[in-house]
Amino acid sequence: MKVCLEFLGCRLNESELQSWAEEFSKQGLMLTTKAQEASVIVLNTCAVTGEAARKSRQHLRKLHRSNPVAKLVATGCYASLEPEKVAEILGVDLVVTNPQKQDLVSMVFDQIELPEMPSMATDPGESAIFSRNRDRAFIKVQDGCRYRCTYCIVTVARGDERSRTIEEIVNEVNQHYRQGIREIVLTGVHVGGYGSDIDSDLYHLVQQILRQTKIPRIRFASVEPWDLPENFFKLFEDKRLMPHMHLPLQSGCNSVLRRMSRRCKTEEFAALIAKAKTLIPEFNVTTDIIVGFPGETDEEWEQTQDFVKLMNFGHIHIFSYSNREGTKAARLPQQIDANTKKTRSQQLHKMAIESTTNQLAQQLGKQCEVLLESGKEQLEDGRFRYWGHTPNYYKICLVDHRDDLGSQIVIIDITGIHAAGSYLETALVAKISDPEASLKHFQWVS
Ligand code: SF4
Repeated sequence: MKVCLEFLGCRLNESELQSWAEEFSKQGLMLTTKAQEASVIVLNTCAVTGEAARKSRQHLRKLHRSNPVAKLVATGCYASLEPEKVAEILGVDLVVTNPQKQDLVSMVFDQIELPEMPSMATDPGESAIFSRNRDRAFIKVQDGCRYRCTYCIVTVARGDERSRTIEEIVNEVNQHYRQGIREIVLTGVHVGGYGSDIDSDLYHLVQQILRQTKIPRIRFASVEPWDLPENFFKLFEDKRLMPHMHLPLQSGCNSVLRRMSRRCKTEEFAALIAKAKTLIPEFNVTTDIIVGFPGETDEEWEQTQDFVKLMNFGHIHIFSYSNREGTKAARLPQQIDANTKKTRSQQLHKMAIESTTNQLAQQLGKQCEVLLESGKEQLEDGRFRYWGHTPNYYKICLVDHRDDLGSQIVIIDITGIHAAGSYLETALVAKISDPEASLKHFQWVS
């Protein structure tokens, strides 16, 4: 789930976005600058002049038009001066006045029912876990899915599995590399099923990408935790494959998984993760969980919580179940009420934060290579703040006096965890100017 934060008016209004951004990230939401892709949009309004108030109203309407399904939150001076009027503007779901601003994030979670089920389990080219930026390319390797998970509309919407040829994919990767891209994410609706229609498989595809391209960093978007080819994890011996996978579990209870028609039981999931962690140093697993699936009893929910605790996920995307017309799950009896879903979602958010914090703590003192994103901000002391991810996909922040580190692979020391608990603080060790030189290094230097 993504949140888009916008402001009108003064610097103070702008600076408030930063603390909300940190709090939302802590709750597991990703930030986006595009209102169209957000589930929640917050506008910090201004009322310094009549014109500013008019613009605030106009901008709220525009945001609603650009994404009518997103939840729209109005806050700031104009929303405080005329809260009733603002609440009546088409599309506004919540008004947060200035005195309530420090509680804005908790008010969003308490007072808005968030549309948390993704419209599709995975959407090629997009992934809940990876943000789009100029340094990372999403390569769609296949479309469609042969399975029928009962909550998923994807098979209806996208049809049977169709894989692109290895040649096509390799050419696309090489083209991105020539254009300066240094990280690719292989995506699809059912990536693990790659090749089933063309007598190939994911192992073979990745092997050929490694052989026929020089792309230094390869990641996978969401991959269902079954159908992975034999010896798949052996591929990670090549350090160009980043030691992280997003493996959607959806529930930690086998009876719920059965009702979902998932093809992986909890024992098999646990065994898969254990195998990956044994074979791949520093391997990080992130996942999706749906709370409040039809018929989910208290006991089944307990089982999910117990299983999640055991898995040490680096990050959990939490979705409250919502009915999708045309799916089998929508016709299942015993739909769960909104309050129960909200309570379960809050419980799981708390566990997810603890789990991420524990995993971040284990990164302290390590040294690794990161690809810094091209965007940077200049701080008041003149230094620059860069963002990136460790090979195993923990978010890092680097503050340095150099202004030329964007879009570069650098070696960093992990020195701390930011107070908001959502990312790692780091210090620059060395810059690797020639991207190909990075291949001589292990991603984990120590
Ligand atoms: S495996 Fe299930 S959830 Fe994933 S795309 Fe196929 S039907 Fe949807």
